Amino acid sequence: MTGLVYKSTGSWYTVKTEAGDFYECRIKGKFRIKGIKSTNPVAVGDLVDFELDETSDDTTGLIHNIHERKNYIIRKSVNLSKQVHIIASNIDKLFLLVTINNPVTTTSFIDRFLVTAEAYGIEAVIVFNKIDTFTEEILDEQLYLQYIYSTIGYKCLRVSATENKGIDELKEMMKGNVNMFSGHSGVGKSTLINKLQPSLNLKTKEISEQHSQGQHTTTFAEMFELDFDAKIIDTPGIRGFGIVDMEKDELGDYFPEFFALKDQCKFNNCLHKDEPHCAVKDALENDEISWSRYKSYLQMLDGEDENYRTDIYGD
Ligand code: GDP
Ligand code: ZN
Repeated sequence: MTGLVYKSTGSWYTVKTEAGDFYECRIKGKFRIKGIKSTNPVAVGDLVDFELDETSDDTTGLIHNIHERKNYIIRKSVNLSKQVHIIASNIDKLFLLVTINNPVTTTSFIDRFLVTAEAYGIEAVIVFNKIDTFTEEILDEQLYLQYIYSTIGYKCLRVSATENKGIDELKEMMKGNVNMFSGHSGVGKSTLINKLQPSLNLKTKEISEQHSQGQHTTTFAEMFELDFDAKIIDTPGIRGFGIVDMEKDELGDYFPEFFALKDQCKFNNCLHKDEPHCAVKDALENDEISWSRYKSYLQMLDGEDENYRTDIYGD
């Protein structure tokens, strides 16, 4: 039988078949996935093959194969530095919830998030929330950011979770997809998800509060179905995900507007920094590339911002 992993508790996986039946599965024997060393062999979002566990009742199974992952997001394991933890796989869209001033979401935070999404090969969407509170000044700032990011190809959406604005457009973008939401604490993730489907009541909040009291609990991602043909992966207690290894001259490839010019740089491994005849720097001088984007790039490149190697975002 084949099914999708909705939930994991470390040793048990909840798998849903296409027929709509749920099975509690364990992993059969010592099977291992090629390529990646992770603390968890199977993750939420995986498509798996399993057989019924004959020693048990007929709702228990044994996973013996994982279908190739389209993508997966990881974080480094705290204890085993060489190993990674796969948070989730086969994600269609990563939504970054952004507020301009309450709380402040900086462009460097947004850019780090986008680089991560690019590196994972997952579409990122920027959702500006709390538009109901905007003053003229804040509105200008928001529209400017929207201009920067939509020009380089990112979809942007303006919503108000409390005033129910833009919610239908958001649902439309989520439809038929496996979705994840990120953003600083206080940007309105819980409020927004609650608006998408009040009955859902995700655990995000309680668990991160437990964490702040220093309790050391391991939590796992879980996938939920929404009633408008969309899925959402909730990651309670997981405050960020990251890229493991990236070479310096690879970073520019994850800035799409830099990547588009790369062939015009004199050196094919151009870091767009001190090299002569750099098309990216020329574009910057001509205001065809945003200075805030370039600044974020330099911060990440020079490792002022070591975070980009481990946890990309979080509170
Ligand atoms: P989370 O930490 O990202 O889950 O943020 P919450 O959903 O808890 O929201 C933080 C605060 O922002 C709460 O007081 C919400 O009522 C408020 N909030 C969320 N969305 C909006 C919005 O669109 N407009 C306004 N004015 N407040 C909002
Ligand atoms: Zn260059």
